Amino acid sequence: MKIAKMLTMAALVAMAARAEQSLTVYLNPADVPTPVLYGAKHTAAKMLAVAGVRIEFRNGQPSTLQLQRDGAIFVGLANNTPNDLLPSALAFTRVPESVQITVFYDQIARFDVALRQAILAHLLAHEIAHILQGIDRHSDSGILKAKWTSDDHFNMVRQSLSFTQEDIRLIQAGLATRAAARLVAGQ
Ligand SMILES: [Zn+2]
Repeated sequence: MKIAKMLTMAALVAMAARAEQSLTVYLNPADVPTPVLYGAKHTAAKMLAVAGVRIEFRNGQPSTLQLQRDGAIFVGLANNTPNDLLPSALAFTRVPESVQITVFYDQIARFDVALRQAILAHLLAHEIAHILQGIDRHSDSGILKAKWTSDDHFNMVRQSLSFTQEDIRLIQAGLATRAAARLVAGQ
C-alpha cells in the first residue's frame, strides 16, 4: 500500500514536471517607490521565467493558512529593520516550510539609487527560489549566491544575473513536488 502510494506520487511528480508552473506572490508595497517596485517585480518575473516559473504578483497579505492552501507566497517589505535582527541581511525566508519572505527595504535604500531596483529584483528572485527549492543552499555565482559583491551589483544593473543549471534543476524538482502535493490534496 505504501509502495503504491509512493508510485502514485512519483507519477504525479513526473506529470507535473512537464508543465510550466504558475506561482502567485503577494506583496505589501510599504514605502517602496512605485517605479522601483514595478521594475523589480518585472525583472524578478523574467528571471524566474527562465527557470520555468510564471509569477503573478498581487497586492495583499493573505493568512499563512490561505497561502499554504493556494501554494502562494507572501513578501513583506519592511522599512524598520530591528538593529539586532540579522545585521547585514537584506532579506530572508525560512526553508523548507516557509511561505513568507521578508525584505528589508530600508537596507536596500542605503545603496546608490541606481542600484536599488536591481537589488530588490534579485532579492525577490533569490528568496522565491529558496522557497521553491525547499532546501537551504546557495550557489557559487548568480542569483542564488550567498552574498553579492560590488562586481555582482555592477553586473546586475547592466544585465540580470542568472540561475545556474543546478539552481534551475532544483527549482523544477521543487515545483514538481509542490504541484504533485497539491494534486494529492485535491486542489
Ligand atoms: Zn539565500
